[in-house]
Amino acid sequence: MKFLIVDDSPTMRKIVSLALSGAGHEFAEAENGKMGLEKLGAGGYVCVLLDINMPEMNGLEFLEAKGKLPALAAIPVIVLTTQDEEDLRKKALSLGAKAFLVKPFKKEDLLATLAKIGL
Ligand SMILES: [Mg+2]
Repeated sequence: MKFLIVDDSPTMRKIVSLALSGAGHEFAEAENGKMGLEKLGAGGYVCVLLDINMPEMNGLEFLEAKGKLPALAAIPVIVLTTQDEEDLRKKALSLGAKAFLVKPFKKEDLLATLAKIGL
């Protein structure tokens, strides 16, 4: 299974990619929402792991844009963010995010969240 990691922090992308590859998954990386949408459009991804605070296009803007694209709308998104805020969580979920994980998290937490949505 191939995942798309969308985060402007190289360190964060490394942490998530190590968790995914450790579980036998493939991945690609994008450093903002705009680049993430472009990569997602190329196809082949089962899930997006999405940061919120990013330049160019942030995570909420990404969710909104993705939701309007029929070919991409059904691909599940898990939000990974340092902002543990109820309003943000509600907003992300209302825009179609499947789960919301607060950084820092353990590799096991990420894999458990993936398992919850059947991945
Ligand atoms: Mg960020």
